[in-house]
Amino acid sequence: MAFDPPVRVRFAPSPTGRLHVGGLRTALYNYLFARKHEGDVVLRIEDTDQTRSVRGAEDDIRDALSWVGLDCDEGPDQGGEYAPYRQSERTEHYREYAQTLIEAGRAYYAFDTEGELEEMREGNRAYDGSTRRQMRNSLTLSDAEVDRLVDAGDYVVRLKVPRQESARFDDVVRGSVSFDTSEIDDQVLLKSDGMPTYHLANIVDDHLMDISHVIRGEEWLSSTPKHVLMYDALGWEPPTFAHLPLILSPDSDRGGKLSKRDANELGIPVYVTDYREAGYEPAALLNFLALLGWSPGTEEELFSLDEMVDAFSLDRVGASGVQFDLDKLRWVNEHYIRDLSVEELAEKARPYVEDEGYEVSDERLHTICELVQDRIQVVPEVVTDNRYFFEDPKGYEEAGVEKRWTDESADLLLAYADRLEDIDTFDTDAVETKLRTLADEENVGAGAVIHPARLAVSGRSYGPGVFGLLAAVGKEACIRRMHRAAEELG
Ligand code: GLU
Repeated sequence: MAFDPPVRVRFAPSPTGRLHVGGLRTALYNYLFARKHEGDVVLRIEDTDQTRSVRGAEDDIRDALSWVGLDCDEGPDQGGEYAPYRQSERTEHYREYAQTLIEAGRAYYAFDTEGELEEMREGNRAYDGSTRRQMRNSLTLSDAEVDRLVDAGDYVVRLKVPRQESARFDDVVRGSVSFDTSEIDDQVLLKSDGMPTYHLANIVDDHLMDISHVIRGEEWLSSTPKHVLMYDALGWEPPTFAHLPLILSPDSDRGGKLSKRDANELGIPVYVTDYREAGYEPAALLNFLALLGWSPGTEEELFSLDEMVDAFSLDRVGASGVQFDLDKLRWVNEHYIRDLSVEELAEKARPYVEDEGYEVSDERLHTICELVQDRIQVVPEVVTDNRYFFEDPKGYEEAGVEKRWTDESADLLLAYADRLEDIDTFDTDAVETKLRTLADEENVGAGAVIHPARLAVSGRSYGPGVFGLLAAVGKEACIRRMHRAAEELG
């Protein structure tokens, strides 16, 4: 359903570091909302804080978005009617509107020195309506002095925040939100280097770029009253706001936002491109993130991007924080892996196989993937969970040995190894026939040979179908491993 005026949303990352999963969720919700309403997605790079900008961060953001396939309609690469899309290239707009605010009496020049500000902070005071009268700014100095200081160029521009009013706005997720303006500082809008702060640049661009809906994380909620004051001061209609719930650490004792600590202590990747490295399917990551804050209102949990677009609505985004759940992501990913063709899985697995220093032909890798596809949750597990396909097991799973290795195992295994020698075409059927004939002749159940064979060849008591496994490991390695196990396990 299209809106009137048309939906235009923006994803507005600051290139202060690599793209965080939380940032990707914001991008995703913007994307879903825009596609659902036939609107446009703008990528805007908010890089006015040069001191916090990190080299390469913009590339990382772009890589991450393109890896998951969230295409923006306008942005630094695509260009567009509202270009440029990098704030550092738009500074004249911010200066112009800072000037407009000053002329309207809604902002003022401030000339305080670092020392004066430091003193004020030490006294735990805020730069607000009650202190501004004691500070050096265009509200307290003579016009001549103000002109002189402005000419000297050492000033900032601050928003003149009214006292004891309420700044109110409607949030699609949170309903009516209001803040007491007495709690809001006289925000710096333009810094002494002539660059805008986030607040000024953000609202000027949202206005100039005709942004209809601002969808962003809850951490920006407390900035919104400042923005609302500025929209009002400039006589502009604010966009519709939707603040997404926080993504919380899975460690409920700790609480708080998902952070690098979770990466270090719980092994949860925090940056999007780390998920790529870890072998997650981009579609699975999006599917998982979609459900981190939004609910379709049904039991359904697996959605393609198109299905998410269809089902998405901001009304079904919750306000309370949501815990990050890596097991859930792995579960979702597992389903996406099952949907791959074996060829696709093999192609995705190859770099991980090579990274581990193993060599394997396409045909063998294909066979291995066929065997493990239903048993893994992320692609690298083709290797990391199934090393016996690539090298002899380093040892034997203790519980498996205890349960499955009996006094007769070594003899049966050696007899089986002998029979395997006779096979010319070492395939699933051939190894199975040999095993069943042996078991019949020895008058034992097939399991009496199957379990020791599996332990010997893979080092453990579980895994894909044993005959396929043996065939994939190959004749020579199977026989060698059986001899070794018979000797080591006795
Ligand atoms: N540049 C801000 C960020 O890094 C944008 C916040 C907003 O969307 O307004 O997330």
